[in-house]
Amino acid sequence: MRPEILNPLFAEVESLKGVGPQLAKALARLKLTRTIDLLFHLPTGVIERIAAPAASGALLGRMVILEVTPFDFRQPRSGRGPTRVPASDADGNTITLVYFNNPGWAKKQLPLGEKRIVSGKLEAYGDEWQIIHPDVAEPDKAEALPLREPVYPLTEGLTNRRTGELTAASLERAPALPEWIEPGLLQREGWSAWRQSLAEAHRDPAAFSRRRLAYDEVFANQLALMLLRQSSRRKRGLPLAGTGELIGRLKLPYALTGAQQRVSEEIRGDMAQETPMLRLVQGDVGSGKTLVALLAMLTAVESGAQAAFLAPTEILARQHHATLLKQLDSIGVRVAILTGREKGRARDSVLMGLADGSVDILVGTHAIFQEKVAYRNLGLAIIDEQHRFGVSQRLLLASKAERPPHLLVMTATPIPRTLTLTQYGEMDVSRIDEMPPGRSPNETRVISEERLGDVIDGLGRHIDAGGQAYWVCPLVEESEKSDAAAAEERARLLKSRFGDRIGLVHGRMKGPEKDVVMAEFAANRLSVLVATTVIEVGVDVPNATLMIVEGAERFGLAQLHQLRGRVGRGEGKSVCLLIRGQQLSGTGRARLALMRESNDGFRIAEEDLRLRGPGEILGTRQSGDEAFRVATAEDVAELAPIAQSDARLLLDRDGGLSGPRGEAARTCLYLFERDQAIALIRSG
Ligand code: ADP
Ligand code: MG
Repeated sequence: MRPEILNPLFAEVESLKGVGPQLAKALARLKLTRTIDLLFHLPTGVIERIAAPAASGALLGRMVILEVTPFDFRQPRSGRGPTRVPASDADGNTITLVYFNNPGWAKKQLPLGEKRIVSGKLEAYGDEWQIIHPDVAEPDKAEALPLREPVYPLTEGLTNRRTGELTAASLERAPALPEWIEPGLLQREGWSAWRQSLAEAHRDPAAFSRRRLAYDEVFANQLALMLLRQSSRRKRGLPLAGTGELIGRLKLPYALTGAQQRVSEEIRGDMAQETPMLRLVQGDVGSGKTLVALLAMLTAVESGAQAAFLAPTEILARQHHATLLKQLDSIGVRVAILTGREKGRARDSVLMGLADGSVDILVGTHAIFQEKVAYRNLGLAIIDEQHRFGVSQRLLLASKAERPPHLLVMTATPIPRTLTLTQYGEMDVSRIDEMPPGRSPNETRVISEERLGDVIDGLGRHIDAGGQAYWVCPLVEESEKSDAAAAEERARLLKSRFGDRIGLVHGRMKGPEKDVVMAEFAANRLSVLVATTVIEVGVDVPNATLMIVEGAERFGLAQLHQLRGRVGRGEGKSVCLLIRGQQLSGTGRARLALMRESNDGFRIAEEDLRLRGPGEILGTRQSGDEAFRVATAEDVAELAPIAQSDARLLLDRDGGLSGPRGEAARTCLYLFERDQAIALIRSG
């Protein structure tokens, strides 16, 4: 249960004075629904005003506070143009106050012949001076126009001043909280207490205290991960040493790479223990993660346990299932598939097979870890291309099982090391840092969209020679609907030229429809697959050696790298064409140039981080549940290692979080809504 002291923070915004349904609606647009949300809605800038006795040329372009007396009121003729209110200052200069709307308001605020304080940017207009939309206050209420005013992110129906008032009201409600930061660290960094830091951060966006708030958030994240690790590792799993018998009978057309060998051994070492494995395998696209997964699954089956393999999409689940069937049927390993599409009898029979142990390996989508799916003896869970299976899902998996399965997460997302910590901090990491031999690295070219015609001609030559190609359409403002429309449009154009050799898949199509198209493409009955990013992860069609990406500048580099990894899986040389828009920023150019020059996913991720700044990389993360509200990616990069070792130390001393600092740390977890992690705290 959340400690009572936090209750005022989780009250709805409507409980604040003066917040009615309309304002609440505006706030909700910024996801500000509770007091706590307002508290963490920190200013991003600050207005500095200069209080001057009178206007002067030196003040042009600055935010000023002036005392003036309006001497005229000119409403626009014919109702068009602004309302103009000429006023004189102490030196007799004329400053025209200009309003483009709400003349009634201006008339009331600026009565003729009466002194008023006004504030805004002083500008020259011809040989006049003016202020557009100045704020106004009566002379004895000058405090309404402070010299420094924090600037908040806003939305329609929400003014900066109102936001400031609301955060101030929220701050008044904020209680002093027990300190969860280790005293030594607090002192070393010179941080103040939580409440004070919050108040300072609202006064000044550049305040040093913001860093403490960021640390709190990163600490909550790391503590949750360390609790996950502690709780998973405390339970006893099944030691699965394997016999090597099935693996020995497996017929592989090639030898393992050194990296595959090494990582497989690390996994085998983990699985032989009773303590459940928690391992992340990072390996660039095409590095051969599937084979590593297969060996781990066979080790589990050799030891009499079952293995589950979770794919992120249905297309991939089916592809993995087909591959596994081909490889494993002859050695007597039984493989089944379960996705949202298996219904009725088919589903029942899979469920039965899992329960009685006649299914050895289950492949599927999220359905495979649902409540109703009962395994006879699940020993190993593999999450492939995890990025839609975040911390909270792993928490769920860990907290449910009596004897948790060994867990293997595989990812090709080349996230930089520090960011790995916040997403997989509880895991041990293996890297497959070597590509299978014989791959010629694919060639990447960047082409302006003006040359779309040439690209289409080139595509024609490619498919006439028997080749296959992907054509990926740009993301349109994150809306699935318009993505689909853009892809449909492109498919129409290509069909008009190449006829029914063109197939189309996008996110709005139903699973079975997508499968049919994918199967046709895999069987080489379609030459070109036009797609939105549904093909992003894992699809394997070796004969496809041309990848065309339209609107390439709109993709993240990691994503482009993934897409490019779809080609160049077979022997032949492959090409990736990145089509760019005509208006491209310097950064945009540099990013695409990097894609042309480098084939190394990790280097690309690091450089992208440098070129774009970390915010955007975190911002484009898909799972969302590791999103930070206060900490920027820079904060995370710097603070995560400190927070991790601090969280570890705390749990080593007080694994039940029952001492005074432990209690405070619980409060921190609740504050950042890591409620699921609380359930993992060791009792007693
Ligand atoms: P990813 O790491 O992206 O999941 P895959 O497991 O799909 O990569 O493997 C990419 C391709 O490389 C597949 O076609 C696979 O058969 C092939 N492959 C995997 N391991 C080897 C190897 N040791 N030697 C040659 N080819 C391999
Ligand atoms: Mg894969």
